[in-house]
Amino acid sequence: MIERSGSMRITDDPHSLRAWTRNQKAKGYTVALVPTMGYLHGGHLSLLRVAKARADKVIASVFVNPTQFGAGEDLDAYPRDIHGDLEKLRTAGCDLVFAPDSSTVYQAGFDFSVLPGNLSKSLCGEMRPGHFAGVATVVTILLRMSLTDILVLGEKDFQQLQIIRRLVRDLWLDVTVLSAPTVRDKDGVAMSSRNSYLSDKERSWAAKIPIALDRVAAQFASGDTHGPNLRRTAVGTLEEAPIDIEYVSFVDAQDLMPVTTITRDAVCAIAARVGKTRLIDNRVLHA
Ligand code: AMP
Repeated sequence: MIERSGSMRITDDPHSLRAWTRNQKAKGYTVALVPTMGYLHGGHLSLLRVAKARADKVIASVFVNPTQFGAGEDLDAYPRDIHGDLEKLRTAGCDLVFAPDSSTVYQAGFDFSVLPGNLSKSLCGEMRPGHFAGVATVVTILLRMSLTDILVLGEKDFQQLQIIRRLVRDLWLDVTVLSAPTVRDKDGVAMSSRNSYLSDKERSWAAKIPIALDRVAAQFASGDTHGPNLRRTAVGTLEEAPIDIEYVSFVDAQDLMPVTTITRDAVCAIAARVGKTRLIDNRVLHA
């Protein structure tokens, strides 16, 4: 049930995955999981590096999770390249790749869901109903299948990170959550599998998003803590390109509730459509 590819193992079978982890733990090794939807880029590989630095063995999962896509979203179009992904993971020193089918993750008659509460009410949770229930459910399943000690997530998906941290705390999932900073391309755009949808022109428009975040951070650093002022700067920057703003929000970094005056750590979060591509990015503002 487990294939070998050089020193890397590959499986689509949760029983083999569990047996492998149990075996590693029996040898005294710690095991980390890096969950991904594939079409890997430098952001994913940075998570692999964090995982390798903190655990003896690293599992990457590659699974485009249908339950986190809403009706009319890009589930079918989502980019996939399992052969390229396996090559990148092998080069990155991944020990085991778990690439299950949807019918394995969601067995016939699957009848449960993990529902986040208030943390999923703002930002992307408001725009994509059901999205974070899909994320929380699949992460719970992947953690139970893989039995890992450590889970590594990216700060690029800030709301997702906070929801999973709370999920792990509230449901007593026995795992340590680590996060890694957002990796950007030379033009400042946060790496994302969805960037592959962008034309050259759209890509140059997308670069307004990190510029907006830079300007907000600079204005905040110079002493302006008033959310609406900072928001005007971000919106003004995004409007320099034909971008459809979905939201530009300032929220508390812990509870993700909107803030007006920033007196505690907050996040400037942006979601915008560039052409048909929906992009998100954020910047933490340390008070
Ligand atoms: P995805 O494949 O987009 O579901 O992302 C899988 C993991 O990679 C998530 O924990 C993301 O937050 C993380 N990730 C995605 N893009 C980046 C990036 N540019 N920098 C760092 N982490 C990222």
